Amino acid sequence: MLNLSTAVRFIRGVGEARAKILENRGILTAEDLLYYLPYRYEDRTRLRGPEDVRAGEQATVIAPVLRAGMLSMRRGGMKIFRAELGDTKHWLNCKWFHGGYLERIIKPGQILAVHGNVELDLYEGGFQMVQPQYEILPEAPTGEHDAAQSLEVGRIVPVYEHVGGGKLTSRFFRKVIHTILESLGGMDDPLPCAVRQQLALISRWEAIRHAHFPLPGTRLTDLDQFRSPAQVRLIFEEFFFLETGLALKKKKAREIEGIAYRADAQIRECLKKILPFHPTKAQKNALAEIVQDMRSPHPMHRLLQGDVGSGKTIVALQAAVIAIENGYQVAVMAPTEILAQQQFFYFRRLLARSGYHIALLSGSATAGEKKAVKKLIKEGLAQVAIGTHALVEGNVEFKALGLVIIDEQHRFGVMQRLRLMQKGKYPDTLVMTATPIPRTLALTMYGDLDVSLMDELPPNRLPIVTRQAPEEAISQANEFIRAEVKSGAQAYVVCPVIEDGSEAKSSTILGKAFAAELKSAVKTYESLANEVFPEFRVGLLHGKLPAEEKERTMQQFQTGEIQILVGTTVVEVGVDVPNATVMMILQAERFGLSQLHQLRGRVGRGKRQSHCLLITSRQQTEVGRQRLATLERTNNGFEIAEMDLKLRGPGEFMGVRQSGLPTFRVANLLRDQEMLEWARRLAQEFVDTGERGEVAKLVQYLKENWNRRYGLVAVG
Ligand code: ADP
Ligand code: MG
Repeated sequence: MLNLSTAVRFIRGVGEARAKILENRGILTAEDLLYYLPYRYEDRTRLRGPEDVRAGEQATVIAPVLRAGMLSMRRGGMKIFRAELGDTKHWLNCKWFHGGYLERIIKPGQILAVHGNVELDLYEGGFQMVQPQYEILPEAPTGEHDAAQSLEVGRIVPVYEHVGGGKLTSRFFRKVIHTILESLGGMDDPLPCAVRQQLALISRWEAIRHAHFPLPGTRLTDLDQFRSPAQVRLIFEEFFFLETGLALKKKKAREIEGIAYRADAQIRECLKKILPFHPTKAQKNALAEIVQDMRSPHPMHRLLQGDVGSGKTIVALQAAVIAIENGYQVAVMAPTEILAQQQFFYFRRLLARSGYHIALLSGSATAGEKKAVKKLIKEGLAQVAIGTHALVEGNVEFKALGLVIIDEQHRFGVMQRLRLMQKGKYPDTLVMTATPIPRTLALTMYGDLDVSLMDELPPNRLPIVTRQAPEEAISQANEFIRAEVKSGAQAYVVCPVIEDGSEAKSSTILGKAFAAELKSAVKTYESLANEVFPEFRVGLLHGKLPAEEKERTMQQFQTGEIQILVGTTVVEVGVDVPNATVMMILQAERFGLSQLHQLRGRVGRGKRQSHCLLITSRQQTEVGRQRLATLERTNNGFEIAEMDLKLRGPGEFMGVRQSGLPTFRVANLLRDQEMLEWARRLAQEFVDTGERGEVAKLVQYLKENWNRRYGLVAVG
């Protein structure tokens, strides 16, 4: 008997070889096949011949092949395969470039369904389609009922993305999915009744059937936009389960007994004293929310989100002071060694008079030094431990870890966050991110966190002026830097790679093929230091340098001893030197928008007007130019992030696969943002006020189906 969890190899019409191809694509069970939805549909209810089409429209034409064969273009000698569809009065010329392989496939007498743009054929008259999608239909029915026939014509026909380099075609998916549906004859609906009714959603069984084989009369535009009732139901279902899982986790976290911190007048006095400036309103609000969480007897799980330069560090530092004053230890995890060091100096400077011991657990320290630092942490003599992921190592123990602070959260995997939290009993957790995450992504990635948003920059900041310029204008850009540095400011110059020929791991949109022609930090440094700016002190910073050298260089830049710092994206996150006013990025088109925004955020931190110069290569395309124009137009990180998400897609956006972003089968974060918001609201409501039996039933369902689908999010 076939059921939803039947392995694909046991489904009629699949077999060993096809099963392997499906499995490689992550399609393992009958259920997976049912959720492999068509990406578009063709209306073949009314047969359309070549006589029915107009130039300029997108159409599906079904007609017999009159003639087929290779055309040889006079110019260039490109091989084109042509199939003439229709009859001698009305015909459609279908042309495929490099179509030699079609000679063996498309033959006169066959019935072909083609889909594409209809154009006038200027060479031969009549209409043509260039590179249409095609499908050979079965012979005309012989009179008796023919099941296969009914899947191909006379209905709205689903079109599936081919799998296995074309080995598994649309026709295959239609047949096998039809087989499964016939054999199942029905299925349970895990979506709670109340929720379904509230949104008037159709049942899962109907939805699955109609998403593959739409009811006659369904609007093709709805289908293509994934807005038919069947598709809406399936998208909603996917979001709802995810959000319910997150809401349940959040609820559970609220039931855990954690630390109820004291935050009385004396502690508040302490907090005020360490502030070197007046906090912004956004900083005050964020701190108030954090204090409220910390006072509650349940562990805090809060995300502090704020654009670059909004001043998150000081807020985190204040939270740390509350924990320390209550007798607990604080762990601060930063994504890079340089950033950990910077946090360390910042904490030490601002807490200098407090008498706290701040420890830096540096990856580059000697074994003896590390041992000594770990001992201090274990015995509780260090109130704050700052480090990179070295902090989550097994042999780092705390005496009383009460607060975990994670800077630039998107750089870490969910597992690392969890492992650090496990070093305390139920510590409060504050994660910070300067990558403004579009709301949709935030809802899914951090759905189990509360969010504080800092949407304000400290006062007296002038918006950074951003300009893109081609390589040819580099000498003007250099002169600009010269003038700025002469007047006492500092500058960054960022390159895509460290050394010539080195592979650019840091830049995610980069193919290996380009690596050799990339500007390297080392070469650029040599040229700037020796030829362009001999009168200035130029420094070099990149990930491969020994830690002491990085630290020394960073400190020299901080104190102004180094005036121009040449580097790679190691300066991307967190580095804070308010006197720097120019950020010049070479081959800027190689970087993602959000990454460029991060780099730009290194300047504009003081009172002086700052500039960001995006220098582009000669090969820069118009599309590329427009992409960078986003940065010229706006300094708003959220706007840039939304744009980045649109251009690069959710998976690429974070640059890391382990970011905890679930992969959706039906839903699409860009297209279905609004539905995600409903799903979130209804899931929250259901978990809080749903009928208990119903909630328990859904919990059971999620338990059985959760790990495979959303494993990573589940531990987040
Ligand atoms: P980010 O949010 O990017 O981590 P930082 O915490 O590094 O930002 O702060 C950026 C700079 O602004 C630092 O030099 C910090 O000392 C300064 N700063 C933060 N808050 C204020 C404020 N309220 N007024 C003035 N300067 C501030
Ligand atoms: Mg920061």
